This record gives sequence, C-alpha cells and structure tokens, in this order.
Amino acid sequence: MFDDLQKRLSTAFKRFRVSGVLTEANMKEGLREVRTALLEADVNYNVVQDFMARVQEKAVGTQVVKSVRPEQQIVKLVHDEMIETMGPSDPTIRFEKSGPTVIMLCGLQGSGKTTTSGKLAKLLVAQERRPMLVAADLQRPAAVEQLKVVGEQVGVPVFSETGTNPVKLCQDALIEANRRGCDTLILDTAGRLHVDDELMAELVQIEKKVRPHQVFFVCDAMTGQDAVASAEAFNKALELDGVILTKLDGDARGGAALSVRKVTGVPIKFVGKGEKLDKLEPFDPERLVGQMLGMGDIVGLVEAAQSAVDAEEARLQQEKMAKGKFDLEDFRKQIVQIKKMGSVQDVMGMFPGMGQMSENLGNIDADAEIRRIQGIIDSMTPRERSRPDLIDIARRRRIAAGAGVEPSDVSGLVKQFDAMASFVKQMAQMSMLDKIKAMTG
Ligand code: GDP
Repeated sequence: MFDDLQKRLSTAFKRFRVSGVLTEANMKEGLREVRTALLEADVNYNVVQDFMARVQEKAVGTQVVKSVRPEQQIVKLVHDEMIETMGPSDPTIRFEKSGPTVIMLCGLQGSGKTTTSGKLAKLLVAQERRPMLVAADLQRPAAVEQLKVVGEQVGVPVFSETGTNPVKLCQDALIEANRRGCDTLILDTAGRLHVDDELMAELVQIEKKVRPHQVFFVCDAMTGQDAVASAEAFNKALELDGVILTKLDGDARGGAALSVRKVTGVPIKFVGKGEKLDKLEPFDPERLVGQMLGMGDIVGLVEAAQSAVDAEEARLQQEKMAKGKFDLEDFRKQIVQIKKMGSVQDVMGMFPGMGQMSENLGNIDADAEIRRIQGIIDSMTPRERSRPDLIDIARRRRIAAGAGVEPSDVSGLVKQFDAMASFVKQMAQMSMLDKIKAMTG
C-alpha cells in the first residue's frame, strides 16, 4: 500500500542531509523533492501547493531540537501536515430520531459503491440497527443482482423494482422500510465510468425528492487526479456529507487519499481495505499516514525529543510564574502548549464534567479564538511582549493591522493579559495553603 509514494518520500528525506539549523536555503532542495513525490503520487496541484507552503512556514519557524537531526524534524512536519490535510477524523453517522435515516452512496462506476453498501450494512447490523439496501442503480441489471448477493451475505433485505425510475424506487423503498421496521436505508445509486450530465441530473433528482439525510461520496484510492476531478463534480452537484475511501489495501497511490478531503471540504468517514464485507474501518488519519510514510520510528523519536523540550519549557515557565514574572511572550507560549494538546474542545473533553462546557465552547469556536490571540501576539515586537504597557494607540493600530483585527481587539487582549498577570503575581506572593484556597474558590 502506497509503496510508490513511500519510496519517493524516503528518497526526498535523504536529501536533507544538513546540519545545524534549518534554513530556507538548505531546506529548498529537500522540500522540492517532497513536492515532486506528492505530485507524482497524483496529489491535486493546489493541495500540494498549500501543503508545501505550510510545511515550509513551519520548518522555518521550527525550533531545532538538538537530539534529533533536522531531516528527522522535517519528516515529522510532513507527517503532521499529512494528518492535517486528511483529517480530522469523524467516523460518525448521524441517525434521525424518528423515521428511517436515509444514506445515499454515490460515485463513479467501479469505485466500490455496491460493495461498500454491503459493508456499511454489516457495520450497522453490528450496531444493532436494522438497515435495508436499496438497488437504485437501474442502469445495470447486473448491479441489482450484485446487491442482492451482498444483501444475502450480510443478512439484510434488499429493495429493488423494475420498470420504474430511481426517484420513485427510492420513495417506494422508504414506504417498505417503514412497513418492515427498518431504521436505515442505504441507497446504492448508479455510476458511470466518467462524470456525465445525465448521471448528475439523476442523482440531483434523488437528492431533491428523496432528501437523503447523508450523502457519501465513494472514492477509489487507487486513482489519483481522476478521483479528484470526479469528487469536485459530485461535490458541486450534491451536498456531500462525507467520503468513503475504498481499495486502500490495493496499490493505492496516495493522490486521492491526500486530496479528496481538501477538494470536497467534507471529512473522510470510512476506509475500505478489501473486497470482503468486513473490510470497512473508521478512518484514522494517523494510522493511514503511518502507512503512507512508513517512518513511525523517526516520528516517534522526534515526538519524544520534542516532549522533553516541552517539559523543560513548562518547567521554566512555572519557575517564572512562581516568581511572579509573566509576560505576553509566556502567555503566547502557553497558548502554543494548549494548541499542541489538540483542539481546546478535545482538551476540555478529557476532563470529567467538562463535556458540556466543551460543547458550549463549540459554538464560539475556541480554536479560532486561540488562533486570533496568537496572531495578535505574533504581530507584537519582543519588547512589546515583555512590556505591554508600552502599547499606545499607534502601536495598537500597527499590531491590529498586522494581525488583521481591530485595535480594540488588541486592547481587549492586553486587558485580559493584565488580569491574568496580576493573578499570577498574587499567587506568587501567597503561601501554598492560600494558593490552594484561591484555586478551589
Ligand atoms: P460500484 O460499481 O461502484 O458499485 O463498485 P463495486 O462495488 O462493484 O466494486 C468494484 C470492484 O472493486 C469490485 O471488484 C469490488 O470487489 C472491488 N472493491 C470494492 N471495494 C474494495 C476494497 O476496499 N478493496 C479492494 N481490493 N477491492 C474493492
């Protein structure tokens, strides 16, 4: 799996035999190779451009960890960026509270829709749901037969009709599902070898009239740009909710896998890893990238080294805070630390009783807020960070312009910081007992 991409990337990383600091100059050649490897794996051009810009930006700003080599740090950066490009993972299906949930699968012919319908049905049966498969592909009689075989294998009813149209057939299937007490319908729709208007018109009709609750695009991972072009076309015509990547067990090239999420903007939900009906797994970006890169040992090494550096950093910060010294630079570092732990929501979700709060936070997009705060602090000079009292109207305007916010946002942040700094100062002057009392309210 991904053999070709893996080989090319490892050649690229060998070019980073540089010592000392990563600079734009010594990085150029290695990164050019990474770029070529991605393009040759048929990753979408725009996705590659974005990807490389982000890796480059992070590489330039990256702190060199002495115990690992720079090229190993680049491997880690590329690894993380691949996860970012394909993720986040969201292998959930939202089910309706009342009435059957209708899931529509669409994609090119041969992408694996019929097989995936059966796999999905099997997965749902294991979750004690009662799915029904719907043979909505009226173009190919063989497809209907194939779905019947699949239905039999997983022990799930298959609805089919002849001499009708796909919309009417799906509507009839819904009535039948209600009659039989089935709670989920999986529509196996028609595909073509290439995107064509007639097919799209048919699918749009189904979407309009049958109103499926979720539409999943089934994407063959053995293809590259072709899959991306069709993903774009399907995404334009239909409101997609997710992607199911198939044939990851085969000679997958990486192009579709790495591009499809960025091109469609919807998450990859599941991955198919074989022809058998139990070969469907929730999408796990970290695992997939591990298989694409095959450099788990290096990634692990850099992570360990990085966390040692982080621990040292945290210790130094604590020392500073204990002395009552705390400036905006420290504030920024703390924010970076929080970000490293995952999204704010994820972090909060880890604490007992915080689940509800993290859900509320979802509405105000805490991650965006953190990015905004960091953007403001990044626009300040080191002197302003250690002496926020220097920030006057002119400086406030400059910082705001640099961060793309309003000057009032800058003063708001400084006020927030002042409150925190005075709290830190107070804490530093308290005895341990008083500190505990202050923290527990
Ligand atoms: P459809 O035309 O979109 O309905 O595609 P099919 O479900 O008929 O699948 C086309 C071919 O791909 C069949 O031979 C399937 O067995 C095969 N296939 C589907 N999913 C996978 C998968 O995850 N791995 C492998 N190796 N083959 C798959």
